[in-house]
Amino acid sequence: MKKNARKITSLLLAVLCTGSMLLCACDKATEESETTVTTTAATTKETTETTESTAETTRNGMINTPYKKITLDGVKENHFVSTDYCYIESEKYVLLIDKDIDLPGDFAVVMDAIVDELEKQLGVSYAPVERDYPHVIDNSIYYNGFNPWKDWYVGEKIPVFIMCDRQPEGWISCATADDLTLVEYELFSEDVWNSIPDFRDNPWRKTDYVDYSVIAHEMTHVITGRNCNMSKIMTEGLADYMAVSVINALADKYPSIAEVKAKKTFYDNTVPEAVNASNAEAIFVSDYKDVSHADRGAEYTYGKYLFEYLHEQAGDDFFKKICTKLNTSAGFVYRYDEYNEEQMQKIAGIIKDLYGDDVFTKFGDWCVKNNHLQDTNN
Ligand SMILES: [Zn+2]
Repeated sequence: MKKNARKITSLLLAVLCTGSMLLCACDKATEESETTVTTTAATTKETTETTESTAETTRNGMINTPYKKITLDGVKENHFVSTDYCYIESEKYVLLIDKDIDLPGDFAVVMDAIVDELEKQLGVSYAPVERDYPHVIDNSIYYNGFNPWKDWYVGEKIPVFIMCDRQPEGWISCATADDLTLVEYELFSEDVWNSIPDFRDNPWRKTDYVDYSVIAHEMTHVITGRNCNMSKIMTEGLADYMAVSVINALADKYPSIAEVKAKKTFYDNTVPEAVNASNAEAIFVSDYKDVSHADRGAEYTYGKYLFEYLHEQAGDDFFKKICTKLNTSAGFVYRYDEYNEEQMQKIAGIIKDLYGDDVFTKFGDWCVKNNHLQDTNN
């Protein structure tokens, strides 16, 4: 992945690759190394453990590493602060952690819950069997040219990079179908935050909670991207919709998610023209390809409400149905980054086949009735 693609603003797209690349396992080093290490982070009693071996076998991958494998204690108030590269391995993902990252003790527990909830609501697996899973990508641009994860292969697990932006370069979180990169200020260590004037002097830039809705948004891109490819409205809209839906579903069970629900304001972007029964389909087909700067982000909000509407109509199968049909429709080759009207007509046709010929007119009426997508810049 190129640097440019990694520095796009949050209102632009996350690049979604359909990538199918080579599979192979690294040679396994079998050398034993000593276990233990108890790290005390600030006032907490966070404990960490190293791996038992320098080579760790994942479900279907292998990683050779001099870096420590960390486990968190599950307690939100306890914190682990990384002083070197390290990693956390979960059932469905591996966190590849930069130096100077501060993770609350419940971080992995909450991440696990988000991935499980996304799979449940989307009705698809985070790791479809027919897909090939590449090696961990070279993200050395973030590490001044060094690649701590060189030759790492984690099989079907999702590589989740947690980065620190020391320069700062303005990096933001983004995702592809193969991996996820988190650059969240709330996860920077106190020390590194205070050493960067741009951050230290602008405390408003970070919130006092970890925004798991952003993580859910990006994780949606990985999971949906691994299962099918969609238009811009669908890709960003579904990610925004799932971010809200997952937070609502998990808030009662996880205090850190309840905190996001209580503190975060989810706002709508403006749209170029108010959506109604007569224009909803044409707008969907246009995929906001020519949207002006003022309405940048319209695709997020249109798509968010479209999927809310479809979810209401179809229950938890709403995405699986579309995904299956996209994958089995002959000649469907939509490219996320290249607008193609013919392909968009095909996608609109697929949605009408599944939800009825009048799905877009009904959606337009629903928007007007609920006052969604009515806010324009005019
Ligand atoms: Zn996105």
